[in-house]
Amino acid sequence: MDLMEYQAKELFAQHGVPVLPGETVDTAEAARGVAERIGKPVVVKAQVKTGGRGKAGGVKLAGTPDEAVARAGDILGLDIKGHLVRKVLVTEASDIDVEYYVAFLLDRAHRRYLAMASAEGGMEIEQLAVERPEALARIPIDPIGGCDQGTAREIVAAARIPADAADDVAQILQSMWKVLVEEEATLVEINPLCRTPDGRLVALDGKVTLDGNAEFRHPEVFAAYADVVSDDDLEGRARKKGLNYVKLDGSVGIIGNGAGLVMSTLDVVAYAGEQHGGVKPANFLDIGGGASAQVMADGLAIILSDPDVRSVFVNVFGGITSCDAVANGIVQALAILEQGGDGAGGTPRIPLVVRLDGNNVEEGRRILHEAAHPLVLVVDTMDGAAAKAAELASGAADGQA
Ligand code: GDP
Ligand code: MN
Repeated sequence: MDLMEYQAKELFAQHGVPVLPGETVDTAEAARGVAERIGKPVVVKAQVKTGGRGKAGGVKLAGTPDEAVARAGDILGLDIKGHLVRKVLVTEASDIDVEYYVAFLLDRAHRRYLAMASAEGGMEIEQLAVERPEALARIPIDPIGGCDQGTAREIVAAARIPADAADDVAQILQSMWKVLVEEEATLVEINPLCRTPDGRLVALDGKVTLDGNAEFRHPEVFAAYADVVSDDDLEGRARKKGLNYVKLDGSVGIIGNGAGLVMSTLDVVAYAGEQHGGVKPANFLDIGGGASAQVMADGLAIILSDPDVRSVFVNVFGGITSCDAVANGIVQALAILEQGGDGAGGTPRIPLVVRLDGNNVEEGRRILHEAAHPLVLVVDTMDGAAAKAAELASGAADGQA
């Protein structure tokens, strides 16, 4: 999970990486109070999960509380590389003498970490990395040994950090390593790490990526920093339910188990859709091996709250989870949704074409026939089911027109 700058700086502060005081606001007027509390010139900074904010007009100095309100007004609502600015950080401004670059990241290919550092940090770091790679030091870090004082000194020397800042930067590198280890991050980056004219070092920007696989060890951190997901953000809702869902622009909702099966389901639906005025799949959704009633219900709830969906194709190949379990899952999922169990407005109202095959398929089909749910149509072949789902989607669309 990528963190925003202000969140990264909260973790920095907890682990001894020097940052300046600041607060986030989501209205321009609220910037006044923060600027008054800080009582010095401030910087107003867009909080979006992308870099290059400075160049995009998302970082502005403000000398007075009035100016802070005006700059917050300029920045809130900006679109920075497709990210809408809903929040700004109002933080104490710093005089800058020099900007350094320091980072630790997971180096998967070499199964270790990598420290990167440069005495020439700032907004041109990407260009520097390409044009003068020798100015960006790269030091491998052993995951067990970590970044002790000796390693930190090695990084500082390789980056050609001047002697009068070397001790402080080495200290900050060790604190950053603590952030990486204790918060289980795969990236901890400071750019710029600024040296002020009076020789102090402070992290003016921060980027942290937390390892999603370690979420269960840090439930509070993940909960605190999770994105607020709105009801119409289908992919965000799916992510929160742990579902592998991608929104597409067609009208046939797709649920399958296994990425390969779902991919080929998209293909057969698109192909069948050509016979029905170009009907296309509405999404990719792989519910994986388990396919329990709750997962099926979660998946259906997401798909059914997509306003573009006119029919749903459930295509499951029974393996370890056999077809009878899947069939029971579908029946129970519909019951869960009919009781409003999900609370997300996913009440079934759209025909479901179900194709089951594989382990214990006869029993699975029998369960669905016996349940005789008015919205469920069982079709035995994948091509037949795709054609039916496409036909229903086009028919429903015509009915609406
Ligand atoms: P980014 O462009 O998204 O990486 O955003 P940064 O937080 O790194 O800010 C971009 C640039 O704004 C920095 O490289 C600094 O040069 C400048 N900047 C950020 N904070 C301050 C500050 O407190 N004082 C001054 N003078 N410049 C700042
Ligand atoms: Mn930066």
